[in-house]
Amino acid sequence: LFALHEVDPELSTLISKEWDRQTRSVNLIASENFASPEVFEILGSVLNNKYSEGLPGARYYGGNMFIDDVERLCKQRALAAFDLDPLRWAVNVQPYSGSPANFAVYTALLEPHDRIMGMSLLAGGHLTHGHYTSTRKVSATSVYFESLPYGVDKKTGLIDYEALRETARTFRPRLIIAGASAYPRHIDFEAFREVCNEVGAYLLVDMAHISGLVATGQHPSPFPYADVVTTTTHKTLRGPRGGMIFCRKEFEQKIDNAVFPALQGGPHNATIGALACQLREVASPEFRSYGQQVVANCGALANFLAQEGCKLVTGGTDNHLLLWDLKSEGLSGAKMEKVCEEASIIVNRNTIATDTSPVSPGGVRLGSCAMTTRKVDEKGFERIGAFLLRARDIALDIQKRSGNKKLVTFLDFLHDSSSPERALLLE
Ligand code: PLP
Repeated sequence: LFALHEVDPELSTLISKEWDRQTRSVNLIASENFASPEVFEILGSVLNNKYSEGLPGARYYGGNMFIDDVERLCKQRALAAFDLDPLRWAVNVQPYSGSPANFAVYTALLEPHDRIMGMSLLAGGHLTHGHYTSTRKVSATSVYFESLPYGVDKKTGLIDYEALRETARTFRPRLIIAGASAYPRHIDFEAFREVCNEVGAYLLVDMAHISGLVATGQHPSPFPYADVVTTTTHKTLRGPRGGMIFCRKEFEQKIDNAVFPALQGGPHNATIGALACQLREVASPEFRSYGQQVVANCGALANFLAQEGCKLVTGGTDNHLLLWDLKSEGLSGAKMEKVCEEASIIVNRNTIATDTSPVSPGGVRLGSCAMTTRKVDEKGFERIGAFLLRARDIALDIQKRSGNKKLVTFLDFLHDSSSPERALLLE
């Protein structure tokens, strides 16, 4: 960042500080990862300069002979990474991210106010799966479409496929979304397909979180069952921030038209180039080992915490994330998140199956994909588990001493430089 430091020292300093934060902390955010130097090189390349509305070979701007090849290569590699037959599957690599990718699918396949069913936000679904609250249609996906979410069993934390089927029979959605932001177990895509067949709905699988695991054989593939599959490209897939939409050939034209011109303008070609490079890596034996290690590491952390008596939603994990129920230990997810942050362990508070409102989530979500990129193994994750237990104990001590359940009071105690817990945390 030498040149930037000369031109814009203010911004350069902020970026350096962020880099320092990222490298010094333990990153357990399940949706984040560390992209490779090659991905960064391409993101900062001349590909950024070009406008290329349209598709390869059919652009609305001149000068796209090389950009066309970049996008074609990206598409080929995307299909290859998921072992898809190009005669039966198509892919659009232009969505700016996961949220626009999902909205493009609804735009392509649905009429305004058609019915959709996705996992509720409280249960671990994503905003773009039709989220609304009792007072507000929060996501545009619930403004423009009629949404009725399905949940998880409050006791087991698992998707209740029978309840899903019952709701679908009554609600008759045009589209059902399988996929989540905070679900620690394998998803049974076949069961979703059966429900879709029964009620005549499309099946959209949003594999944003697990696409790197699907590509490496660590999670059952949605492709035998789904009509359309969306994904982000920056979570377990470890690429630049972006989105992709895979669809059966019969939907290709509708999906392409929904992305452009219905919703987007010019594709972000530097992102598409960087994604092409990452998809090459995804097909490598090294990335296959990475996928295995991500799951092994998350399993090691889950076992460690469970052996120490912690309650995990669903009792454990099959993938790259777990949900730790802190409510059962008398703590809120927000307090745990703040205490961890002081100790440079980055987690996010998350609702758990028994929460009834997203306002004060009862747990934290812990993910293994970023630290696995940094070569932490099972033993390392057990050490991280021990740090987390210490943070939990400190949080409980502060809560006791502050004598108050309120987060603001808790934070006053936490940030008090003379607090004994703070000294412990910084140790
Ligand atoms: N779908 C799922 C399941 C997600 O978890 C996310 C993001 O976390 C998205 C879609 C949206 O992706 P983005 O934040 O890139 O718009």
